[in-house]
Amino acid sequence: MFNNASFDDHERVVAFHDADSGLRALIALHSTALGPAAGGCRLWTYGDPAMAMTDVLRLSRGMSFKNAMAGLPMGGGKAVILGPVPDERRAAIFAAFGRAVDTLDGAYVTAEDVGVAPADLEIAAQHTAHISGIVTRDGVGGNPSPFTARGVCIGLEAAARFAFARSDIAGLRVAVQGLGGVGMNLARELHQRGARLLVADLSATRVEEACDCFGAAAAGVDEILLSDVDIIAPCALGSVITDDVARHMRAKVIAGGANNQLAGAGAAGILLERGITYAPDYVINAGGIILVSGEYFRDSDRATIDAKIDAIGPRTAQILEIARQTAVSSGAVADRMARDIIARARLATRFA
Ligand code: NAD
Repeated sequence: MFNNASFDDHERVVAFHDADSGLRALIALHSTALGPAAGGCRLWTYGDPAMAMTDVLRLSRGMSFKNAMAGLPMGGGKAVILGPVPDERRAAIFAAFGRAVDTLDGAYVTAEDVGVAPADLEIAAQHTAHISGIVTRDGVGGNPSPFTARGVCIGLEAAARFAFARSDIAGLRVAVQGLGGVGMNLARELHQRGARLLVADLSATRVEEACDCFGAAAAGVDEILLSDVDIIAPCALGSVITDDVARHMRAKVIAGGANNQLAGAGAAGILLERGITYAPDYVINAGGIILVSGEYFRDSDRATIDAKIDAIGPRTAQILEIARQTAVSSGAVADRMARDIIARARLATRFA
């Protein structure tokens, strides 16, 4: 773990094993300088447990940066449950996960991520109070995906304004990769704004739904990122913008909901060289965690949540403008801003 390239000074990483249910989980707390480390729980079947470690570390650091940039009183953390999880043990595993979260005494707050449904977290919530993303009170709380999609759409519009000097996205061709909780809601938002959609998903049913409801055209999962469109919106898994994709993609803008879209620093350099605008993923996909934070702390009404999500637009524009002026990649600009916010909070607690 300490030698992992994504370790990046994590405060705490805990491995959990529950022999009765078979739960195997990792919870990583990157930083609690701004508040409890918050980030969703992913259920995934990894080829090797070392890949789960890398995933949880990358995702947890991403949450630190995301929460800092969204101005939330939350640090960054993440959980992964190592699959496969047989149906007959699913309830017992999520109960054990809830107990695992509870041992951290509120230092970590969890919510949904890929592979985890609100029903799973309702089971976990019987064993800990440190769960968000399940209860809606006065329009605040519940499933974060539509709020994530709204923020992504706002960030995408800001990136399109920056790259194409246009006031709206009507008529622009947008390719959405992944039509899950985020991608399908994003497709709806984009359709409402007049964008022309190309979509891909492993599930033919989801592709059909997007074609029927939003007039989308279908693309193959292997070709969508290289398709002839104006914008690509990765909304499936991370590391999809490889060096090869960065070199050969035809779109001029990348703006999507998936976490950790760039496979590495090489891809960021190629995008910069080619003048492709990249809206940093954790900046524009913060809508869900903004809702989760409001639900957990009960400190925001719906209008406050909406205003915080709207702020994603100007924040994205500011990052892209600094990147242009300094000839530094937009991801590096965002990372620097996020690290500064966290460092200031750490200093403030030291002198408190
Ligand atoms: P989801 O599991 O609901 O949907 C993922 C979709 O991607 C599924 O429909 C799946 O079939 C599809 N998919 C998987 N591999 C694919 C491929 N190679 N090509 C095309 N489609 C593929 O997940 P989600 O909640 O929509 O999250 C999507 C991404 O957004 C993840 O990276 C997640 O970490 C990130 N994210 C989600 C939220 C949220 O609020 N749900 C918030 C921030 C970031």
